[in-house]
Amino acid sequence: MSVVLLDQFQRPLRNLRLSVTDRCNLRCSYCMPEPEYVWLPREDILQFEEIERLVDGFLALGVDKVRLTGGEPLLRRDLPALVERLAARPAIRDLAMTTNGILLAEHASALSNAGLHRLTVSLDTLQPDRFLELTRSRDLHRVFEGIEAAAPLFPGLKIDSVVIRGTNDDELADLIEFGKRYGAEVRFIEYMDVGGATHWSMDRVMSRADMLARLTERYGTLEPVEEVSSAPADRYRLSDGTVFGIISSTTEPFCQDCDRSRLTADGMWYLCLYASRGIDLRGPLRAGETPDEIAAIITRAWESRRDRGAEARLASRDRSPLIPIDTLRRDPHLEMHTRGG
Ligand code: SAM
Ligand code: SF4
Ligand code: SF4
Repeated sequence: MSVVLLDQFQRPLRNLRLSVTDRCNLRCSYCMPEPEYVWLPREDILQFEEIERLVDGFLALGVDKVRLTGGEPLLRRDLPALVERLAARPAIRDLAMTTNGILLAEHASALSNAGLHRLTVSLDTLQPDRFLELTRSRDLHRVFEGIEAAAPLFPGLKIDSVVIRGTNDDELADLIEFGKRYGAEVRFIEYMDVGGATHWSMDRVMSRADMLARLTERYGTLEPVEEVSSAPADRYRLSDGTVFGIISSTTEPFCQDCDRSRLTADGMWYLCLYASRGIDLRGPLRAGETPDEIAAIITRAWESRRDRGAEARLASRDRSPLIPIDTLRRDPHLEMHTRGG
């Protein structure tokens, strides 16, 4: 019988987001807006064998969903080899990856052959000038090529778009129409005030309610898709059957059902996207602690978990960017691109 580890709010440990690098080839304005960053020391980055040992610890404690992320995961050398090793573990019921798509055309078939189950591509705009403004890159065409290559290999491909008022909130329908061409479900994400989002302000958040109003003007009635799930997106169906989702992390957080935790590329484990401190698993691993000892660290931490970060932020009256820049520079673990989003 499989283990179910419950936290203080009866939320199971089930979903692990595994960051394989803190580096990125884009500079999205809502994630990495600063001119310079402090990177994790190279010698601290976990080797594939070390990642596997930690993942096995999590699998033994009930995790059955693993998502590779970053930084940009496809910058990690030989990533398909890691995918292949993870895909060989039957305890991983769902093995997914989130990528910005820039390097996807080169890697899509290797990822598929390696056994990756599902893929999400982040794409916030279809306009090259806007892409340049949002990401400081001229390579939007490479993201399109990546989606073109990946869509036939990963049925049910998802496209995630962070919506920022006054920046790309006029592209919701265009993104849905783009997704339709590839059979891809688009999910709109509310702009979050996570670490690293130093340009965040509440007036730039397009709420779920506003997105629905905008899409109703264009498509008419949107039918909510009824489903029981711990997944963060609320899904809606257009009259032609197309489904899209909204992740209302800022205005209507879903901490109540949150079964997610995050492991950074250097082996720090975070129980919440907003947690100010993580739990060091690299230290014990490299010190030769046994799988049982590491399992005990994970168990103790999860059983005491009370984190409901986004709800706490919603309740705070004065909302400005979460973490000042000098604090972020002192500890890159506070950054979204280190935690993996
Ligand atoms: N680089 C990859 C990518 O962009 O797909 C994976 C890592 S990225 C940190 C994971 C997700 O976090 C992306 O979909 C990104 O849009 C999202 N993200 C980053 N900063 C965000 C913010 N301030 N608000 C909402 N989503 C954010
Ligand atoms: Fe953008 Fe992802 Fe890179 Fe952050 S980690 S800058 S969201 S591509
Ligand atoms: Fe989970 Fe923390 Fe996000 Fe809430 S804020 S959904 S507890 S990761």
